[in-house]
Amino acid sequence: MRGNTLYIVVPCYNEEEVLPETARRLGDKLRALMAAGKIGPRSRALFVNDGSKDRTWEVVTKLHREDPLLCGVDLSRNRGHQNALLAGLMTAKDKADMVISMDADLQDDVDAADAMVDKYLAGADIVYGVRSSRKTDTFFKRTTAEAFYRMMDLLGAETVFNHADYRLMSRRALEGLSQFKEVNLFLRGIVPMIGYPCDTVEYQRGERFAGQSKYPLKKMVAFALEGVTSLSVKPLRMITGLGFLVFLASLVMIAYNVVRFATGNTVAGWASLACSVWFIGGLILLSLGVIGEYLGKLYLESKGRPRYLIGQVLDGEDESGRD
Ligand code: UDP
Ligand code: MG
Repeated sequence: MRGNTLYIVVPCYNEEEVLPETARRLGDKLRALMAAGKIGPRSRALFVNDGSKDRTWEVVTKLHREDPLLCGVDLSRNRGHQNALLAGLMTAKDKADMVISMDADLQDDVDAADAMVDKYLAGADIVYGVRSSRKTDTFFKRTTAEAFYRMMDLLGAETVFNHADYRLMSRRALEGLSQFKEVNLFLRGIVPMIGYPCDTVEYQRGERFAGQSKYPLKKMVAFALEGVTSLSVKPLRMITGLGFLVFLASLVMIAYNVVRFATGNTVAGWASLACSVWFIGGLILLSLGVIGEYLGKLYLESKGRPRYLIGQVLDGEDESGRD
């Protein structure tokens, strides 16, 4: 029988408004699951402060003082959602048998955790939270998010449809994850690569409880590009295909011009010439850009910089700080 210590990891960036409510619900959830005998007494909720500019860490410290089930990790600076999540998962890995990751804003239905734990106890190593509808999302968020999943698919990045970062992972799966050393982290793409038995749990995604989205359009686009370039080399192949097509077109063009020359009606057409110069020039620049994107990734990966640095851990064990 596998162990049953559960950690719930929550990355937080400027979440002072929602944290008290999130903490209350997670505390209640942990106690309910403990009372039901599904999880062990050493289970905890772990808040990762991702270099927030507001009072998030003060709130976490206060919550920890009031309720020992609530713990915290403070990162040295803002490292972004994915890195903050990884920091939490790697911290929890050594203490827990299973770890659930969820957003701080209560959009992920806390009650779905029961089903996740059940599926873990039934033998699954990874349980994906899949949202059953997007009714509560704004029209803009819904269309951009769906376009995101479609584009990912088209460009060869395989992900679980309508699954964000609400999922349960067993210790074994986390050990697997820790062996993926990439600096350009896109967890949704990497987790399915781990393998092991997996399962899904459906849930209704709610609205943000309070505060504002930390993913403006600019960050979403960056996140999508990150996903594609870190999971697939299909864009590079597309460039090759494009180059081939343009080459074919130029062959046709040459043949056409030869025929015109032979029949003696050559026209000095600078317009078509100018157009093709711009067209081909644009294609070349675009292609160079895509290649440059991969080159840039390679450059960053080759440095192998740390993905996060931990400033302080509040878990009731070692609170001396590790800085
Ligand atoms: N987040 C983070 N670091 C960042 C940005 C976001 O840890 O730099 C966290 C944020 O606190 C939240 C989660 O990532 O718990 C998802 O962010 P948000 O809810 O704003 O995204 P949305 O649901 O709007 O896509
Ligand atoms: Mg959210």
